[in-house]
Amino acid sequence: MELGISGKRALVCASSKGLGRGCAEALADAGVSLVMNARGAEALEAAAAEIRARYGVEVITVAADITTDEGRAAVLKAAGDVDILVTNAGGPPPGMWTDWERADFIAALDANMLAPIALMKALVPGMMERGWGRVVNITSMSVKSPIAVLGLSNSARAGLTGYVAGTARQVAPSGVVINNLLPGIHATDRAISLDKGVSDAEGISMDEAKARREATIPARRYGTPEEFGAACAFLCSQHSGFIIGQNILLDGGAVNTVM
Ligand code: NAP
Repeated sequence: MELGISGKRALVCASSKGLGRGCAEALADAGVSLVMNARGAEALEAAAAEIRARYGVEVITVAADITTDEGRAAVLKAAGDVDILVTNAGGPPPGMWTDWERADFIAALDANMLAPIALMKALVPGMMERGWGRVVNITSMSVKSPIAVLGLSNSARAGLTGYVAGTARQVAPSGVVINNLLPGIHATDRAISLDKGVSDAEGISMDEAKARREATIPARRYGTPEEFGAACAFLCSQHSGFIIGQNILLDGGAVNTVM
């Protein structure tokens, strides 16, 4: 399918690896030039070089922590006007409800709620002026089906979801489309670290931890960053203009619900 976004420009946050990288690749494949971001410069430069070589699009890199004011300022300065924004950052650590103090909640809110909101506030007005824009926020299936050990993530992402529900409808008349993509378990470093948590806590091997989790997914496997990126690119395409403020699960059927 022709996505109709060749020549557009995208900021893809937290994109040297994993789901953000999958989104960057799929957008580049559609002819979109990129501003890519991650904290670690080495992996970021390597990812950017591969994408330039593979798709022939312009890629600007900004090594910065997107959850901080300074990091975002550097990224926004390099990005300038963009047509497409994909927000993303690392997820908070797992734990028990008794573990978390105010500072832990503030860090989770900064990363997974306030950073995406700040990026939208900075970039959506330009999209509205130009009459076209696409925003995809990478959240989590925990928005629809909270995961008990990810209480910090559940809390912060619920806040972002509420914000997007209203904002997406306020900006839609100007041609700006905002949606959230909700990953279930995907084969990335994040999934490995969550499997490691289970493996350590229960004294089982990593393979056993992964097999147990795969058994809970009707598709019986983890998703791939490529599949996730393809869905993201569609939501950033010319075809998504009537999809407003939705929370779209990519979870292999793991969340057992009809709505
Ligand atoms: P990942 O494989 O660990 O990749 C994370 C990427 O984000 C890396 O490029 C990392 O590079 C970058 N990053 C992390 N923190 C950053 C920050 N503060 N500023 C800028 N870049 C940052 O993670 P993932 O699996 O793709 O997950 C992406 C998001 O989806 C996370 O919020 C995660 O909680 C959520 N999610 C993932 C899954 C899953 O199964 N994979 C399921 C549900 C939700 P640096 O470390 O160099 O910064």
